[in-house]
Amino acid sequence: MQVLENWSQKILRVALVLFLAVATAFELQAADPGWGIVIHGGAGATLKENMTAEKERALQLKLSEVLNTGHTILENGGSSLDAVQAAIRIMEDSPLFNAGRGAVFTHEGTNEMDASIMDGRSRNSGAVAGVQLIKNPINLARLVMEKSPHVMMAGKGAESFAAQHDVKTAPAEYFYTEPRWDSLQKHLKQQNLKDPLETERDHKFGTVGAAALDKDGNLAAGTSTGGMTNKRFGRIGDSPVIGAGTYANNATCAVSATGHGEYFIRSVVAYDISALMEYKGMSLQKASDYVINDKLKKFGGSGGVIAIDKHGNVAMPFNTAGMFRGYVHEDGEVVIRLYNN
Ligand code: ASP
Repeated sequence: MQVLENWSQKILRVALVLFLAVATAFELQAADPGWGIVIHGGAGATLKENMTAEKERALQLKLSEVLNTGHTILENGGSSLDAVQAAIRIMEDSPLFNAGRGAVFTHEGTNEMDASIMDGRSRNSGAVAGVQLIKNPINLARLVMEKSPHVMMAGKGAESFAAQHDVKTAPAEYFYTEPRWDSLQKHLKQQNLKDPLETERDHKFGTVGAAALDKDGNLAAGTSTGGMTNKRFGRIGDSPVIGAGTYANNATCAVSATGHGEYFIRSVVAYDISALMEYKGMSLQKASDYVINDKLKKFGGSGGVIAIDKHGNVAMPFNTAGMFRGYVHEDGEVVIRLYNN
């Protein structure tokens, strides 16, 4: 009798432990935000006081269009790569951002654009730098990844590759936007007073990027930019540099950066966040906060990142006055922020 009681107690105890283990696993799973997309429209020095209500509204509308498009793709079982590319393409087509149509001007009054995309599953990547008249540089970056054995192509070579693949171009006038042109004129005037090699230090918003996690658990990230106003001599920033401006790895996270590119390249920002997660077991929030608000800030670099991890947690730290940013998960609730709020 005594033996039987002991056994039934043991069985009960094991059953209880098993039940608790399964319940915890379920709870943990339920706590994961799951698939989703996070985007940015650049970080910079513009304050709310300097923004018109009209521009604010236009930005909110465009960012929600971008997030809803990404959401629909992911909801229908589309890949994170497709969601990222589509999100960036919409922002490239809008004059509101410093990418594609609204790209800033170089010292010579041309537009030279950079873009990159990375697949977190295979860690395949594609990037283009200093391309002119390419309507959507992010499309070209994806083609470099999928239709060539290379990772990065620049200038004339990238444009010849684009022509071979019938990539859409646009005339120079398409890329002319008055605010960007005026900004160059202002810089040219000021330049007489300071170092002629100086680009735009107190730089404004505009570069675009996206990072997503799809239903299959695959991460992807991409970034597109016109670079910095008044840049010279074929200057290339961090946006097309894998590891600096863009990085994705299914084991950790997907990241897209925006800010003063020279500092982001030297700090290998996007990869640094992933490495802290991989080697130190840090959470996405902790790793990205540390890299942007501690390391990069002390180094003198201004800007921010948007990132999503393999569970769907998002982080959007920045050390500037603001960063246009937003995200959406499975529930479809779109979150958009412009300033430090
Ligand atoms: N990171 C970009 C560059 O340096 C600029 C930006 O993000 O605003 O080219």
